[in-house]
Amino acid sequence: MGKHDRLDTFGVTVIDKDAYAKKQDYVVKNCKCPTCPTYVAGDAPVGYCFPLIGTSAKIQKEVNCICGTCPIYKEYELNHSFYCTRCSQVCQMLKTEGAAAQGT
Ligand code: SF4
Ligand code: SF4
Repeated sequence: MGKHDRLDTFGVTVIDKDAYAKKQDYVVKNCKCPTCPTYVAGDAPVGYCFPLIGTSAKIQKEVNCICGTCPIYKEYELNHSFYCTRCSQVCQMLKTEGAAAQGT
């Protein structure tokens, strides 16, 4: 088992508002999305894997996802992709595991 809570990968439920904002800043600063072929110039904020950033309003077409090369991806042991179009790590985890639980 990894060191991060699967339902709260970034540990945001146990930190206060300031710490949350700092962590979001950290994720956005280290995010590789602006260099990804799927990314649409000018879209902000990036760091789509982080809870509450939400999916992109501009990105419509999935080309390739380079999240696997991102330091945040490794640090927080993420395991999904296309956060910009499909929703955050926790959101996708719930969707896939929810579907699996129902045998779909
Ligand atoms: S894992 Fe992907 S969405 Fe998350 S910070 Fe890295 S490049 Fe951005
Ligand atoms: S989430 Fe993945 S596909 Fe979307 S812009 Fe970031 S690296 Fe590219």
